[in-house]
Amino acid sequence: MSKRSVAVALAAFVLLASACGDSSGPGDAGDRLTVVATTSILGDVVRNIVGDDVAVQVLMPIGADPHDYQPSAQQVAAVSGADLVVANGLSLEESLNDVLESAIGDGANILEIGPSVDPIERSGTDGEWDPHVWLDPLRVAEAVDVIGAELSRLDSAVDWEVRAADYAAELRTLNTSIEDILAAIPPANRLLVTNHDSLGYFAQRYGFEVVGMVIAGGSSLAAPSAGDLAGLVEVMIDREVPAIFTESTDSTVLAESVAAEAGGDIAVIEIYTGSLGEPGSGAETLAGLLLTNARRIAAALS
Ligand SMILES: [Zn+2]
Repeated sequence: MSKRSVAVALAAFVLLASACGDSSGPGDAGDRLTVVATTSILGDVVRNIVGDDVAVQVLMPIGADPHDYQPSAQQVAAVSGADLVVANGLSLEESLNDVLESAIGDGANILEIGPSVDPIERSGTDGEWDPHVWLDPLRVAEAVDVIGAELSRLDSAVDWEVRAADYAAELRTLNTSIEDILAAIPPANRLLVTNHDSLGYFAQRYGFEVVGMVIAGGSSLAAPSAGDLAGLVEVMIDREVPAIFTESTDSTVLAESVAAEAGGDIAVIEIYTGSLGEPGSGAETLAGLLLTNARRIAAALS
């Protein structure tokens, strides 16, 4: 065993020991729930409910593509030892599936929020769910109520449902602010071309049409063919789409080449989809992320 793997194994042991080692259940005086969230965005959602009263561990660092994230051994242990794991589900966390499934086998408590917020199918598919529910604040508000109810079930010492309702109310106000920002875009200009199929819920909520994407499919992991890209160039010229929205988690190389090929002054604009932004980005929280995206989309399409 190398020094590094010893350190990793030790860290995993310490984590497991701290998660399982005390015999008092959650809710007992002085005890704190341990909650794991898979994505940085879900981490922010959970923190907005629990504040500093619960230790929240987030598996994916800022900038990680949630479709393609491999957890460390230490994180695998944290998933098994947590009182609650908040995941998106709907096949978002593709590379975490095995970990989550085996944790369920070990009795872990995993709450997938996607299935409970009226999911829609990915564009052009039959029966494949679009996982990107967090880009619709009203769906997140519903998920927040579900998380609050589960926290209350685990720990009756705090009125988690009231806290969740407060944050859900903030998200509903946020939705109105986003509508105000997007009101600047005339209906005829409400056409989206994205890097991958991430804006289905956004489009449904705010009255946009997704006319194309650089990487077809619900995941960012597929590779487009030359024919796919040529087809997208044609659609963009045909529909006079002025911008491609790329993502902070993925390369912009293909989008740049589509924009160059389509000619004109097609803008390539980064938005935040699968991860919060770095400090200073304006997208450090889900609320900030959604406002930042709305402003950039409004500026590009107005
Ligand atoms: Zn995605």
